Amino acid sequence: MDYSSKISRQVAAVPRSGIRDFFDLVQGRNDVISLGVGEPDYAAPWHIREAAIYSLERGQTSYTANLGLMSLRRKIADYAGGFFGVDYDPGCEVLVTVGVSEALDLALRSLLNPGDEVVYHEPCYVSYMPGAVMAHGIPVPVATSKEDGFSLKPDALAAALTPRSRVLILNFPTNPTGGVVTEEDLVGIGRLCVEHDLIVISDEIYSELRYDAGKHVSIASLPGMRERTILLHGFSKAFAMTGFRLGYACAPAPLTEAMMKIHQYSMLCAPITSQAAALEALENGAAAVERMRASYHERRDFVVQRFNEIGVDCHSPGGAFYVFPDVRALGLSSQKFAMGLLDTEGVAAVPGDAFGPSGEGFLRCCYATAFDQLKEAMVRIERYVGTLG
Ligand code: PMP
Repeated sequence: MDYSSKISRQVAAVPRSGIRDFFDLVQGRNDVISLGVGEPDYAAPWHIREAAIYSLERGQTSYTANLGLMSLRRKIADYAGGFFGVDYDPGCEVLVTVGVSEALDLALRSLLNPGDEVVYHEPCYVSYMPGAVMAHGIPVPVATSKEDGFSLKPDALAAALTPRSRVLILNFPTNPTGGVVTEEDLVGIGRLCVEHDLIVISDEIYSELRYDAGKHVSIASLPGMRERTILLHGFSKAFAMTGFRLGYACAPAPLTEAMMKIHQYSMLCAPITSQAAALEALENGAAAVERMRASYHERRDFVVQRFNEIGVDCHSPGGAFYVFPDVRALGLSSQKFAMGLLDTEGVAAVPGDAFGPSGEGFLRCCYATAFDQLKEAMVRIERYVGTLG
């Protein structure tokens, strides 16, 4: 059978993730140090795992409300009020999802009509372009630069807006660059959103992982922005809970209701065991988050310093757990550089173009990797760089 005619045009139009393609090559090699997958090297803190175990022991194996357990939604609303400085009603403005991944999909599908433009800063998380396309939107990337710390500048955003612009996706701190945005620029971005009547999907999954005394500011907390922002957050990164698959969206009630309709018919609810774990994470997880954050901070400083010592220009990112060194001066494309590094030295890092064309010439290295492994990876990278140029 010719299956190509059976698959939706929207799905056929999106490529597989470049990260996955690259990691298929790593499978089966046990000599490789991976700086590849964007995942904490920690297991979830034990008290969080215990909460999941106790929940199962108590026989909590049922569905929950579509929006999620009320006790968890209350905690999320408390957390959002304290951490982001934005108040949400747990009854109708908080939706618990299967990771930020599901929340992003729900947000895009509930907002877009065919042909609506979705603007986002690039290099960016691999799901934004496919997510927009699969929701029948038109992706509009705005390139950011190393010189600007991979932040989104209001001028660059203004130049990308058209009468068809409907949605802006923001992700600060940014995967894959670790870029952050200044409050001043965020105010400028917010002003443009009001002028152009945009809804913002703000993916703040790395917001706890800030360094250099930088304080995270959510666009939802700026005057006039709460009403036009869907704030996405979750437990995967700061709480090291990727496998629990738990996230949430906070948004004004009509937007939450629209997302809930899709969620209700496609997912029904997030897993109850993970919701029990998330409740514990919010109640008692702050100390563990701070310990992990401090350790990422140390590792960031080490990796940035080592890259610059060996002559590979690497900006010091203000957040997340990625560095994005610039390998353009070494005369190879991102793909060639990454393949060569993997083949000759057994170090896996993701070619920057996996995060959009503006990532070409860079490499994403996740430093949420054990210190001794990181040290060894940098020795190998130095040796590899020495063979180039
Ligand atoms: N957004 C960004 C920017 C991410 O980096 C990731 C995970 N790599 C996600 C969303 C998805 O996270 P989750 O595990 O909550 O689905």
